[in-house]
Amino acid sequence: MSTTAPRLLQVRRSEQITPRMVRVTLVGDELAGFGGDGPDRRIKMFFPVPGQERPAVPRATSGGPLWPTGEPRPTIRTYTVRRFDATAGELDIDFVLHEGRGPAAAWARDAQPGAWVGVSEPGGRYVPDPAATFHLVIGDETALPAVTTVLAALPAEVPALAFLEVADAAEEQLLPGAAAIRWVHRGAQPPGEPLAEAVRTATLPAGRGQVWLAGESACVRDLRRHLLDDRGLERRAVYATGYWRAR
Ligand SMILES: Cc1cc2nc3c(=O)[nH]c(=O)nc-3n(C[C@H](O)[C@H](O)[C@H](O)COP(=O)(O)OP(=O)(O)OC[C@H]3O[C@@H](n4cnc5c(N)ncnc54)[C@H](O)[C@@H]3O)c2cc1C
Repeated sequence: MSTTAPRLLQVRRSEQITPRMVRVTLVGDELAGFGGDGPDRRIKMFFPVPGQERPAVPRATSGGPLWPTGEPRPTIRTYTVRRFDATAGELDIDFVLHEGRGPAAAWARDAQPGAWVGVSEPGGRYVPDPAATFHLVIGDETALPAVTTVLAALPAEVPALAFLEVADAAEEQLLPGAAAIRWVHRGAQPPGEPLAEAVRTATLPAGRGQVWLAGESACVRDLRRHLLDDRGLERRAVYATGYWRAR
């Protein structure tokens, strides 16, 4: 956790952007000074537990985070800064309404204006490598918010390919940048399988590639290994994160 206490924010509005994705816009005085710019900025979100209006959040002290006593700890999940607009004072987070319906997805589905949530300082280390001769961007729908910010940050003159797995055509989104986008529809297949197949059978450009990869954890592990072992990409050129675990 960062040394800064999480910011307590409120829902301004929410919008269904595809059948399985909802965009929640957060506002609040505590957004001042938020550093949400750049590609792939990750935040911890602190959700209230049932019966609580506001999540308990720790206070930052020089001895580390100090939690309020006598209050239940919040549910904590990781999400992506989809858009931060300092002028409008708005922070957008896009939530997949997945079938597992954990507490975070359920909160997003039901979020009403005024609802409280806590947000950590953004982190993330990905930066496009100016020496890369091509870029690969690979992910599933949980990765789409980050993919959008990654594609927007890639240099237009370097070839870029994106492989993106979503449930079906209704989950495709308009994406920025000049990358060639290959949408893969999951249908009834297990998550990650069609994505792994699409990448494994793709013809990739020759040269020094850089990869951004995220999605279901087993699929990410499998594809990372494939990119390093079978495609000969450099270890530090593959930025891979498991976002969730299929059970
Ligand atoms: C760096 C990072 C950035 C992320 N950014 C985003 C983001 O911007 N938007 C977003 O929607 N998610 C994002 N995720 C993924 C998100 O954190 C997980 O999907 C999380 O598990 C959701 O929490 P939950 O409380 O809804 O479900 P949990 O309580 O964690 O899980 C409940 C059940 O749902 C299943 N499950 C969880 N996620 C999915 C899924 N996507 N599809 C199908 N089943 C699922 C689990 O296997 C489990 O059985 C990100 C994850 C990381 C690590």
